[in-house]
Amino acid sequence: MYDKNLMFPAFVDKARKIYGPDFIPMHRPVFEGNETEYLKECVESNFVSSMGEFVSRFESDIAKFTGSTYAIAAVNGTSALHIAMLVAGVQSGDEVISQALTFVATCNAISYLGAIPLFIDVDRDTMGMSPSALRHFLEHNTFTEGGCLFNKVSKRRIKACVPMHTFGIPCRIKEIQSICMEWGLVLIEDAAESLGSYSGDIHTGRLGALGVYSFNGNKVITTGGGGMVITDDKRLADRVRHLTTTAKIPHPTNFIHDDIGYNYRLPGLCAALGVAQMERLDEFLTVKEMIAREWQNLFGEFDLECNGALPKDKSNNWLNSVTMYSKTDRDEFLHYSNERGVMTRPLWELMSNLEMFKKCEHDGLENSKWLLDRVVAVSSSVPDGALADFNNRSNV
Ligand SMILES: *Cc1c(COP(=O)(O)O)cnc(C)c1O
Repeated sequence: MYDKNLMFPAFVDKARKIYGPDFIPMHRPVFEGNETEYLKECVESNFVSSMGEFVSRFESDIAKFTGSTYAIAAVNGTSALHIAMLVAGVQSGDEVISQALTFVATCNAISYLGAIPLFIDVDRDTMGMSPSALRHFLEHNTFTEGGCLFNKVSKRRIKACVPMHTFGIPCRIKEIQSICMEWGLVLIEDAAESLGSYSGDIHTGRLGALGVYSFNGNKVITTGGGGMVITDDKRLADRVRHLTTTAKIPHPTNFIHDDIGYNYRLPGLCAALGVAQMERLDEFLTVKEMIAREWQNLFGEFDLECNGALPKDKSNNWLNSVTMYSKTDRDEFLHYSNERGVMTRPLWELMSNLEMFKKCEHDGLENSKWLLDRVVAVSSSVPDGALADFNNRSNV
């Protein structure tokens, strides 16, 4: 039964049982593997920048894990998104369809290209882009001319669609993929939060022409800061690699560049961390599934629902979240928990409410608004020593 006077303290109690008496952040990294060893190896090899073996090792680890043909490392997820959209053909003055409910990086990257984001509502269950809202928008607000899709009102070309897998929960990406095919939109997945999440048995990030991951300090695995572009298209992969490395033409001695390139290549130091983190990813995911179950059980006792993957999909449980009954309860819960050193957070302010994106077109955003008022993200780190516990358990 729902009783917030019981639920609030029960939540803090549970968080303390899982994470101990100190301040509890949302999601902190765990370095209990070969991180220090590989960093040392990297320093001693002298190749701390982008040359050397760690960057290519990290890239092949990600390609293998996700099943993608190519993986190209970048300095962070935002720059990976920027380059992915650039090679997808997004140009200045184009519109790019995304979500109002996302982290600002998605829309910043669109803006770096001089393109304009267009905000579509999300589904309540996945908190990711709603295929029915997308279809509705395309049917009523666009026209096709010369093989390109245009916005009826702005007359701008709509080039790409960038859905996001919120908190690691796969959105209805297969439906979005077929809508994009039907309307001639390039699909790029912002899979920054969803390394280890699957739509059916396909890893998120693999259904688009390009997919992007982030390895920021708060993500499932971290390289300090870092990102990755994946694709199965050799031409796109070559172009991403070229543009993230100052568009330099390979030559034994000379410096010749054939485009305005970017210095977006991931340093080897970061990749060394990434290689060590990838060795632990399966264990992280197992522990995170156990944490997710703990929260489902606790909130379930109070008739509250945790947001999770659709039946055939699998979430990496990056951030666990719970839907409150009202904005008032949400605010009280945020206040109560943060006051007691257990970090909780609301969703991101909708992009359509931010100063720089206020003028961008959007649909009714009913679900986005509904979720923003109610959803709270709760502590989701892999706890100290959990990996050791897990290893002991699996050794028995
Ligand atoms: C983390 C994140 C990014 C990229 O972030 P970086 O900090 O630049 O690595 C992009 N989109 C979403 C949805 C994210 O959560």
